[in-house]
Amino acid sequence: MISTSAVIACIETLLVDVPTIRPHKLSVATMNCQTLVLVRVRCSDGIEGVGEGTTIGGLAYGEESPESIKTNIDTYFAPLLKGGDATRPGAAMARVRKLFQGNRFAKCALETALFDAQARRLGVPLSELFGGRLTDAVDVAWTLASGDTGRDIAEAEAMLEARRHRAFKLKIGSRSVADDVAHVIEIKRALGERGDVRIDVNQAWTETDAIWAGPRLAEAGVSLIEQPIPATNHAGLKRLTQLAHVPIMADEALRGPVDAFALATSRAADVFAVKIAQSGGLQGAAAVASIAAAAGIDLYGGTMLEGAAGTMASAQLFSTFGSLKWGTELFGPLLLTEDILVEPLKYTDFKLHLPTEPGLGIAFDWARIERMRRRAP
Ligand SMILES: [Mg+2]
Repeated sequence: MISTSAVIACIETLLVDVPTIRPHKLSVATMNCQTLVLVRVRCSDGIEGVGEGTTIGGLAYGEESPESIKTNIDTYFAPLLKGGDATRPGAAMARVRKLFQGNRFAKCALETALFDAQARRLGVPLSELFGGRLTDAVDVAWTLASGDTGRDIAEAEAMLEARRHRAFKLKIGSRSVADDVAHVIEIKRALGERGDVRIDVNQAWTETDAIWAGPRLAEAGVSLIEQPIPATNHAGLKRLTQLAHVPIMADEALRGPVDAFALATSRAADVFAVKIAQSGGLQGAAAVASIAAAAGIDLYGGTMLEGAAGTMASAQLFSTFGSLKWGTELFGPLLLTEDILVEPLKYTDFKLHLPTEPGLGIAFDWARIERMRRRAP
C-alpha cells in the first residue's frame, strides 16, 4: 500500500572525503580528493531519500563549497522543511526557492533527496517522475586530465581496450595555448578514429586564443570545444560559435534556465552541458534541456564529478531527454578510490546502465560512509 501522508522527519548532511585515483588537473585547480556532500532525508513513513551536492574544487570553480552546502542546508533549508509534507517535493522546493537565493548545489542535493524518497514511496525509478526514461543506459565519456601527454594516451588506450569509454574530454587551459593545442593534437593523432576527442578549457582562454586554436583543432579532428572563454562573455562565445570551426559547448556560462534562455536566444553555443547541480536541481536541469530542444541546441550530460548519488540522479534525468547527442560524462564514481554503494554502478560497453529499482535505484553502504565521513573538528 502506497502511503499518501508522510512528513519530513529529519534532514542530515554528511561530508565524505574520498581520494581520487590520480591527480585531476583543471585550469582552476588540481584535485587529489573529492568531498561528497550527502543529504539524507528521513520521512515519517520510514522512507529515506538521498541527494548529493558535490563541487569541483570548491571555491576555485564556483560560489559554493562543500562546507557552505552543508552549513546552509543544516542552518536554513532543513528547519524550514522539517515537519512538512514529504509527498510533495515540488512544493517543498518551491518554498526553499522563494525564501533563499542562490545555493544551486545545496538546492540540488536537497531536491534530489526529496524526489528520491517520493519515487521510492511510489515504487518507481526517479526517471518516471520526470517524464519517463527513453533508455536504460547512457554513453559515458572519460576525462583525460593528468597533464601528461603520454600518460593520457596510455589511459585512453586502456579505456578503449576495456570497452569502458570511447569519447575523451581533455582538460586543458593551465599551460600556454600552443603547448595545450600540441598536447591535444598528439593525443587525437594517437587515437585516430578509435576515440572521439573533445576539449574543455574551463574559461582559461581569451577570445583571440580561441580564434588561433579553432582551425588547428578542427584540422586535427577535435569534435567539440567546451567553455573556451570566461562564462560571463556570452557575446564572445557567440562569435566563436559563428566561426564554426569546431562546435562550441557552453558549460560554466550555463547556470540554469535563465542562462539557457539567454544563450539560446542569441544562439551563443551549439551544445549545452546540462548539469543538475549547476541548474539548481533536477527540475532546473529539465527546463534547461527543454529550452535547448526548442532552440535546436544539442545536449550533453555534464557532471560536477559527483559520487554515486549525484551521478545516478543525473543519469535518471538524462535518460528522459528526447536526444542526448553528445552522451554524458557521468564517470565521477570511477575517479574515486572508494565506493559508497553496496553494489557499484554498472559501467560496461561504453555506457552507464540505469537500475530499474525505485528512486535512484542504488543502495548505500552506510556503515562504510559512517567510517569515512568527516568529523567535526
Ligand atoms: Mg566543463
